[in-house]
Amino acid sequence: MKKLFEIKNLNMHYPVVDGLLGNLKGYVYALNNVDLDIYENEILGLVGESGSGKSTLGNCILKLLNPTSGEVIFENENILSKKKKELKDFRKKAQLIFQNPYMSLNPRMKIYDILKEPFIINGIKDKKIIEDKIKKIINLICMQEEVLNRYPHEFSGGQRQRIAIARAIILNPQFIVADEPVSALDVSIQAQIINLLIDLKEHLNLTMLFISHDLSVIKFISDRIAVMYLGEIVEIADKNELFNNHKHPYTEALLNAVPVISEDKGKKIILSGDLPSPQNPPKGCKFHTRCPYVMDKCKCNQPELKEISENHKVRCFLAQEIL
Ligand code: SF4
Repeated sequence: MKKLFEIKNLNMHYPVVDGLLGNLKGYVYALNNVDLDIYENEILGLVGESGSGKSTLGNCILKLLNPTSGEVIFENENILSKKKKELKDFRKKAQLIFQNPYMSLNPRMKIYDILKEPFIINGIKDKKIIEDKIKKIINLICMQEEVLNRYPHEFSGGQRQRIAIARAIILNPQFIVADEPVSALDVSIQAQIINLLIDLKEHLNLTMLFISHDLSVIKFISDRIAVMYLGEIVEIADKNELFNNHKHPYTEALLNAVPVISEDKGKKIILSGDLPSPQNPPKGCKFHTRCPYVMDKCKCNQPELKEISENHKVRCFLAQEIL
């Protein structure tokens, strides 16, 4: 498999300042030494609790945020070292779908103008090319051309998300970050949008980072899954391996939180307590304050993300010990 992105040692530490004088109080450690490869034409699911750093990672990969340090290699270049003007080509190739379709579409613009905007931004003025592409894309998202003359408020949440997706793919990107794209929608609509994203991925040869806090959604759409906790990847594997042979206690706890009809009354890890503050993360293994298997060494030593079998990496002493 060919890598589309190589993310190396990515850190995002937001300074926290105090009062009027702006004295530095500390940092919010949103991303810590994230290493991640994203392969061409895969859907990589990124899962974790709210506040675990998933959206920050998505935004840093697209350079919508400037990370504190690290590299994001795309087509043999570190896009983090590029200036704004040099990013124009990259912006066409890598797009974001937002969580909230109610906020992401300009309410004063007709759908046609919303879909035309990316062409204007990129200096494409040929009316025929623009019109043909808009009509094609509207058909691709299973809507009728008559919607082009209407405003966003005339549509349901699911329809708005279809339009937001159309805008994201209209310039034929290679890569999409879909940041919780169904979590603001009714459950009955979620499956339609997920199926649309799967179809578009196949049809347009897209690569996607699909961010969600919901493992059942992630399971449905992803080829591989990365689990995040307090700004770190704690486990990453192919979907079936992660669901059937997960090794990190946090992954286990997340899976136990997914409702299933089962007779299994065996011991289960239930996630207790809140996510610790990313401003003051625990020393050692960041999960040790909530881990039922915690050992003394977990409290002072930080486990590395290590490969325990082919394409399966885990950040846990216990999983690495029983190899
Ligand atoms: Fe639990 Fe220790 Fe593994 Fe961390 S390293 S997940 S505390 S067993």
